[in-house]
Amino acid sequence: MADKKNDPVVVIGLGRFGSSLALELVRRGTEVLAIDNGRKTVRALSGHITQIAEADSTDIEALRQLGVQDFYRAVVAIGTNMEASILTTSLLVELGIENIWAKAISKQHGQILSRIGAHHIVFPEHDMGERVAHLVSGRMLDFLQVDDNFALAKTHPPREFVGMPLGESALRRKFGVTVVAVKSPGGEFTYAAADTVLTYGDIIVISGHTDQVERFADQP
Ligand code: ADP
Repeated sequence: MADKKNDPVVVIGLGRFGSSLALELVRRGTEVLAIDNGRKTVRALSGHITQIAEADSTDIEALRQLGVQDFYRAVVAIGTNMEASILTTSLLVELGIENIWAKAISKQHGQILSRIGAHHIVFPEHDMGERVAHLVSGRMLDFLQVDDNFALAKTHPPREFVGMPLGESALRRKFGVTVVAVKSPGGEFTYAAADTVLTYGDIIVISGHTDQVERFADQP
């Protein structure tokens, strides 16, 4: 299959999520066709996005006129107006878009989008809430749920693992997590190795099953 990485992307709905996404794609050199039915929104973003159009994405003729059917990838970033989100997604399926990403604001919304043919569902509010909960309630500096039960976290090394090489610390046996990278104060992240010795000011990136990552990050 051809590499579709740099193919243009249609982004529909330019609220906080859709506009950030579209602008980041542009920054990374991807061509974007952005669509929103809000005149003010379109005006505010024109000049920053290659192609931007004011249109109602629940109107299949409007989508056809913009050439949406020629795109391989599309993102439906409408959340609050669930009816518009569902209808737009179904029209993209009807137009034969092969790679449809859709934003959902609830589990049920996600299930409907998936049933009507969206290929990927994202839950930005839910995911961010979960992530911030980990940061607020524990010692983690960052948290990323990579899969249902697998996570990456940025944290400080617990006391018991400071001052000895990782290879001798039995850290993986005791906690089931792997130290992936280490950053010393003032330095940059480097890969962790068996002879890496952690110090108090270090920041480490760990990976493992979510509960094990949480347990490890709770250690003083
Ligand atoms: P966020 O929470 O990321 O700001 P919203 O759901 O509030 O997301 O914003 C969605 C955007 O989608 C808004 O800018 C709105 O104008 C746009 N939008 C809603 N319905 C349609 C539609 N039928 N066609 C095109 N754009 C739409």
